[in-house]
Amino acid sequence: KSQLNHTYSFENYIEGDCNRLARSAGLAVANKPGTTSFNPLMIYGGVGLGKTHLVQAIGNHIKATTPDKFVLYVSAEKFTNQFIESLRNNGVQDFANFYLLVDTLILDDVQFLSGKDKTQEMFFHIFNHLHQAGRQIVMTSDRPPRDLNGLEDRLLSRFKWGLTADLQSPDFETRMAIIQNKMQQDGIDIPPQVVEYLAHSVNTNVRELEGVLISLVAQSSLNRREIDLEMAKQALRHIIEEVEAEVNLDFIQKTVAEYFSIPVDLLKAKTRKKEVVTARQVAMYFAKEHTSHSLKSIGHNFGGRDHSTVIHSVQTVSDLIDSDKSFRSTIAELRKKFAGK
Ligand code: ADP
Ligand code: MG
Repeated sequence: KSQLNHTYSFENYIEGDCNRLARSAGLAVANKPGTTSFNPLMIYGGVGLGKTHLVQAIGNHIKATTPDKFVLYVSAEKFTNQFIESLRNNGVQDFANFYLLVDTLILDDVQFLSGKDKTQEMFFHIFNHLHQAGRQIVMTSDRPPRDLNGLEDRLLSRFKWGLTADLQSPDFETRMAIIQNKMQQDGIDIPPQVVEYLAHSVNTNVRELEGVLISLVAQSSLNRREIDLEMAKQALRHIIEEVEAEVNLDFIQKTVAEYFSIPVDLLKAKTRKKEVVTARQVAMYFAKEHTSHSLKSIGHNFGGRDHSTVIHSVQTVSDLIDSDKSFRSTIAELRKKFAGK
C-alpha cells in the first residue's frame, strides 16, 4: 500500500507566486525521481499551505507514470509509531528492510521526529541507504531546516544535499483561483463577487479557505438557496466569532461569571461583595494567563481598575491556589474551559 490519496494532483494544485519554486521542483522530481539534483526535496511551510497536497501529487504522478515503482507516503508520526511498535516486537530488522525497498519515500511533517533520537537514527540509516541507491526522498516540514531544533545535525546536514523550497501564504489572485477551481470541481456555481469577497476576507491559509467553502456549500444545500454574497458574509461572521471567542477577554469574563453564577456586568462594577470580588480576581488571573493584554488593559476592561489591582488579583489567586484545595480544583475546572483555546 502506497498510502497515496488520489484526490491530490498537480492539476488541482493551483500555481502562484507563493508556491512556484516548490511546485516546479516537485514536478521535476515527479518526472525524474532520484535522478535530479533535488534529492532530497524538502518542502517547508506553515500549516494548511499545501505541503501534504504537493508531496502527495508527486507520489501520485510517479505512481501513474511508473506503476511498477514502489512509492510510499508516510507521515513522520506514523513512521515513528511503526518503529516503536517494531522495537516492541523484535521487528526492527523487518521494519528497516521494508523501508529499504522503497523507490520513492515521502516523509510528511519531519518536525515530528524532533527529540526522538532512536527514530532519527533509524531514519538516518534508511535515508543514507536510499540516497546512495539513487532512490528519491521527499520530505516536508512546518519550519525551515535551520529551525528544526531537536533534529540531529548529521540528519539536518543531509537535508542540504538536495533542494529546500518553501510555501508562502497564497496571494489574492491565487486565492481566487483556488476558490474557482474547488467550486468547479464540485460542480457548484458561485457568483464572481462572492469569490472576490472570500478571497479578500480569508487570507490566512488554504485549509481555512476550504473550510469556509465547505460550510457555504452545506448552507446552500440545506436552505436550497444559491450561494450569494449575503450568505458568504453570514458564514464568515460565524467563523470570525469563533476565532475571537477563543482568546478574547469577553469569553473569559463570560465563562467565569457563568461559573460563579453572577451577571457578567458585576465583574466591571464597583461591588466589593465577596463572591464578586473572587470571580473578578479569577477572571483577571485567566486574562493574564490566556490573553496578550497588558496589565493596564486588563484593568481597563474590568471597569477601569488600575494595573496594581490586576497584579494584586493575580497574586491573590496564585496564593489561594497554593493554600486552598477546593479553590485549586475550581481553577483547574475553569482552566479546562480555556484549554486548547
Ligand atoms: P499542509 O500539509 O501544508 O498543512 P495541505 O496540503 O493539507 O496543507 O493543504 C490544505 C488544503 O488546502 C488541502 O485540502 C489542499 O488540497 C488545499 N491546497 C493547498 N494549497 C493548494 C493549492 N495551491 N491549490 C489547491 N489546493 C490547495
Ligand atoms: Mg500536512
